[in-house]
Amino acid sequence: MSQLRFKVVEEAFNRKAIEVKMPQENPSKYYAKFVFNKAKMYQYLPSKTYKDLVDAIDNKRSINRELADSVAAGMKQWAIDNGARHYTHWFHPLTDGTAEKHDSFIEHDGKGGVLEEFSGKLLVQQEPDASSFPNGGIRNTFEARGYSAWDISSPVFIMDNTLCIPTIFISYTGESLDYKTPLLRALNSVDKAATAVAKFFDPEVRHVNSFLGWEQEYFLVDESLYSARPDLVLTGRTLMGHESAKNQQLEDHYFGAIPSRVESFMLDLEIECHKHGIPAKTRHNEVAPNQFELAPIFEETNLANDHNLLLMSLMNEVARRHNFRVLLHEKPFAGVNGSGKHNNWSLGTDKGVLLFAPGKTPMDNLQFITFIVNVMAAVHRHNGLLKASIASATNAHRLGANEAPPAIISMFMGSQLSEMLNRMLNEDTDELIAISGKERMKLNLSQIPEILVDNTDRNRTSPFAFTGNRFEFRAVGSSANCASAMIALNAAVAEQLFDFKEKIDARISKGETLIHALLQELRVLIQLSKPIHFDGNGYSDEWKVEAAKRGLDCEVCPPKIFDSYLSDSSIKMFTSTGVFSERELIARNEVKWETYTKKVQIEARVLGDLALNHVLPVATRYQSILLDNIFKIKSLFDENKSKELASNDMELIESISYHISRIRKDVNEMVEARKNANSISDEKEKAIAYHDNVLPYFDKIRYSIDKLELMVDNEMWPLPKYRELLFIR
Ligand code: ADP
Ligand code: MG
Repeated sequence: MSQLRFKVVEEAFNRKAIEVKMPQENPSKYYAKFVFNKAKMYQYLPSKTYKDLVDAIDNKRSINRELADSVAAGMKQWAIDNGARHYTHWFHPLTDGTAEKHDSFIEHDGKGGVLEEFSGKLLVQQEPDASSFPNGGIRNTFEARGYSAWDISSPVFIMDNTLCIPTIFISYTGESLDYKTPLLRALNSVDKAATAVAKFFDPEVRHVNSFLGWEQEYFLVDESLYSARPDLVLTGRTLMGHESAKNQQLEDHYFGAIPSRVESFMLDLEIECHKHGIPAKTRHNEVAPNQFELAPIFEETNLANDHNLLLMSLMNEVARRHNFRVLLHEKPFAGVNGSGKHNNWSLGTDKGVLLFAPGKTPMDNLQFITFIVNVMAAVHRHNGLLKASIASATNAHRLGANEAPPAIISMFMGSQLSEMLNRMLNEDTDELIAISGKERMKLNLSQIPEILVDNTDRNRTSPFAFTGNRFEFRAVGSSANCASAMIALNAAVAEQLFDFKEKIDARISKGETLIHALLQELRVLIQLSKPIHFDGNGYSDEWKVEAAKRGLDCEVCPPKIFDSYLSDSSIKMFTSTGVFSERELIARNEVKWETYTKKVQIEARVLGDLALNHVLPVATRYQSILLDNIFKIKSLFDENKSKELASNDMELIESISYHISRIRKDVNEMVEARKNANSISDEKEKAIAYHDNVLPYFDKIRYSIDKLELMVDNEMWPLPKYRELLFIR
């Protein structure tokens, strides 16, 4: 009898919602309570310091030591007033999470006591050991030392009584070892490129910002059940488990009533988000049982990404208060939907114009078309790279697995916009945009705003969809750092816009009018990027064939997908935009391959252990009970009767034997395959070996285990079953 399973199931089913301590005030009162934002700066900093700091932040300037000292003093006071005892540089190494090393504020006061101390030097820079973080060999060749440096564009905040300072993380030799550094570079680059193009339409534009609104999907599992599933604890997903008789087929979970335990959790999380300045706005059930989503109001991309990483930490913490565990893995359960993190992305000028939104005048709309078409061109040119930017061992269970976006990047534009683009191609005339006096243009780009207002035709099968005033990059994984996708996308678009600007300038210098130059160049791009445009069903097999014909990247093996980072066109794009050096790209791919291998390796070990030490002993024990039964039958009945009575048990015994020996054999072969893979020294080849030779055993072993789950006495089965894991009362 599996004591543990029954105990945890009982615990989980008896749990009641935890009451949330409601703040006395409205959210607007406690919003950003733990953030050192401009209001707190104003309150805690001398007025000159405040002015200089805000000026540096707004104009993307660096700050000197003197200013840093003054800022640090005020910041320390604010932090201590709000209960902080420690401070940490908070950065985003090339792992799934964030990193922090806490130091206390205390220093000797020289009189045998201590005082609280925090200087500008400590605020601005620290030296964590780079060799303890993934670095793809960069630290071997040079020095182990790494630097973290304050990113003044992201406000510091307090989490768990610790002052957290968002920082970049670079090696002694200046190579980035994190996600934030290249993200800031990409944002800088797209700002420059897009501003130059936006100036064609409004010479007053000084900056273009990139915006990100992520939608975070996740699963919740009761903590007792979780603790009884070593696969969930160690890999974040279930490596076995027969489908529940009921899962999502009734479609009764999506937008359904939220269970009270979950509602408490969501409320608590929302309050924490708001206190930490994360503008959480939407929450709802998702398609799969136990699956939910949280989305904030969109923000400038760097800040939005910090907030997503902070959210993932807060979720883990708040979940534990409610006796839940959060699963951010892309595919925690087979047979039900996986989780993604849609990245809603747009560009907007410092004058408040969203560049992917149609406007009121023909020129506004020409600007809109200009930016949309350049995005198409960039996504087309770098479709393989964009896929690489969201590829991982975990997201591979979702992409191309016939539910989430396919492992081919294409763009959904919707019928109105598609028609518009066709028209631009087919009607080769400047009339399209000719403005006579203040009149609307003839063939009327100005119709777009009216039509697009209601552009809600969504295509859930598209990995990259235009949704009215933004693009939605839907293929991003739920556990991913959005920066990876945002770096590739913003950099690719920057490169494209730089090219475009050059081409327009060249045409103008040859005497073409701006409008003619723009229209002609856009026509070239629309024609060129046609293959990326696909409004049909992305899950269909015909699309895979068609996409290959169109020359889109159709690779499905993650270690090979990563190669796109090192293609000539990627290297050219990343170096010309200043986002990555070639050396950084090479180092990062080493990390990607290594991480891929390690994830599959860990899963293989856990699977082997569970199969041999949890499942097989139980199956064998059950088999022997059946055998006992047959002996007893034989001792009581004559031969014919015995045969008749024992026939079911005999059949079952044979089936169990069959699966037991299959599992033994497959686990042994998998271990062999692992050994062979481990002996390969090249990281890429090793990762490919894990993909090609180790991974295929997972499904085989799982198949037999799941069959056994259906045969073995329910009372003996050791691991919580899907039907127990997936339905929160
Ligand atoms: P849906 O699930 O229908 O896609 P949601 O409301 O759940 O829509 O999420 C939409 C997300 O897109 C939100 O985070 C929202 O803030 C964000 N968003 C809306 N407009 C923009 C924009 N122009 N740029 C970036 N993100 C945006
Ligand atoms: Mg969405």
